[in-house]
Amino acid sequence: MNKGRTYNKCGFSFSKSPFSVFLCYISVMKLKANLHFHSKEDPCDIISYSLFEGIDKAKELGFNVLASTCHTKNIVTAEHKTYAEKNEILLIPGIESNVYEKGTNRKNHVLILNCDESANDIHTFDDLAAYKKEHAEIFIIAAHPYFYGSFSLAERLEKHIDLFDAVELSWFYTRWFNKNPRGAHIAQKYNKPFIATSDTHFFKFMNTNFITVESIEKTPKAFFKAIKNGGFQNTTSPRSLYDIFITFAFWEVKNIIKKIWIKIM
Ligand SMILES: [Zn+2]
Ligand SMILES: [Zn+2]
Repeated sequence: MNKGRTYNKCGFSFSKSPFSVFLCYISVMKLKANLHFHSKEDPCDIISYSLFEGIDKAKELGFNVLASTCHTKNIVTAEHKTYAEKNEILLIPGIESNVYEKGTNRKNHVLILNCDESANDIHTFDDLAAYKKEHAEIFIIAAHPYFYGSFSLAERLEKHIDLFDAVELSWFYTRWFNKNPRGAHIAQKYNKPFIATSDTHFFKFMNTNFITVESIEKTPKAFFKAIKNGGFQNTTSPRSLYDIFITFAFWEVKNIIKKIWIKIM
């Protein structure tokens, strides 16, 4: 065992915060979680499986928690929730929102979890701040903040750091190029959780990039509280160049072609 760490009865390690010591004496459950998941209902990306099929896959892979985060729309219905419950999955409604800095046309991807349909109307950082004020139960993640593309937060992460509950550790990296260290630095600087996700658009990386959370209950409130207190472990590893440039690029090209086809038809 590592010096300076404490372990509960499940062998799960924590730094010695009062919360972690408390966890050693109570019954906790390990929850395998995917907090960034797209499905066929996504209005922006072309995806081959529905959220129902995604729930089936999550169950097959042993996940306990799944957050639906389609672009610009919370697509979770009562039927999805019932279906997830039957499959012993805690389904968290969410959205990958395009948040704009006032007066600019540069969008920033932001994950808003445990939200309702009114989160669909969030378009600016002011909207996000107002929504957060009204909805203390939500959990906001800075998605792939320093990655390529005009949709990443970059310097706007620090500017609006108080809005964020966590920073994403993106699956999109290899041993040779990796934009995650800058996100890790900001997460550490502001004492925010740094969370591994698979930004699932296809199932291939779903079981190699996720978090395991030690929570006293399988409820959104207890789950997010545990993450905020550092009671989680990341599972992540660098992808191969093949995965990045063939698997992902092939999916992206297919996505673009299908979008053009839909526009023409
Ligand atoms: Zn994104
Ligand atoms: Zn995404």
